[in-house]
Amino acid sequence: MNLTERITNAIRTIPDFPKPGIMFKDITPLLKDVELSKEITVAFAEQWKAKNIDAIVGIESRGFIWGNSLAQLMGIPFIPIRKKGKLPAETLSFKYDLEYGSAEIEIHKDAIDKGQKILIHDDLLATGGTAIAAAELVKMSGGEIAGFSFLVELSFLNGIQELEGHSTNIHSLITY
Ligand code: AMP
Repeated sequence: MNLTERITNAIRTIPDFPKPGIMFKDITPLLKDVELSKEITVAFAEQWKAKNIDAIVGIESRGFIWGNSLAQLMGIPFIPIRKKGKLPAETLSFKYDLEYGSAEIEIHKDAIDKGQKILIHDDLLATGGTAIAAAELVKMSGGEIAGFSFLVELSFLNGIQELEGHSTNIHSLITY
């Protein structure tokens, strides 16, 4: 089996979580398979190593998992974006709409240096709202968007079309 097939087999789909109608892609079985999890980090690095990335921004919370391993493997900083109220120092924040209600995410004001090329990473791309909000925070911080990286893309939700306004470097290891 190739890497894509092994990832696809390991991801568990939980119907109606966290609410009716959502098919939740549970990546926790991948984390139990240490070898597979390492190979995922290496596959991400292969994708991005020639793209002159200065730092990786990971989105809370599952964007921290491979985001940080990838940053370590590439030898560049990892920067967390968190839900409002979690980061302790001075922050910039961005509010965005969800299907029901809204959400707000934050980054430390001093996390990104002006002009740094930033890769935005999360476990899964659905509608793209979360990744776009992260891109807005990177731009507010003076960074440039070098690309978007996901483990999984739910292509039927067309999130990619939303992201293309920020960067056309968009990569996922597996697509549904
Ligand atoms: P979106 O902003 O719609 O692109 O949603 C992406 C965020 O929500 C990511 O942080 C995902 O972890 C989470 N998410 C959305 N849909 C799913 C799903 N079907 N399974 C797992 N996580 C999801």
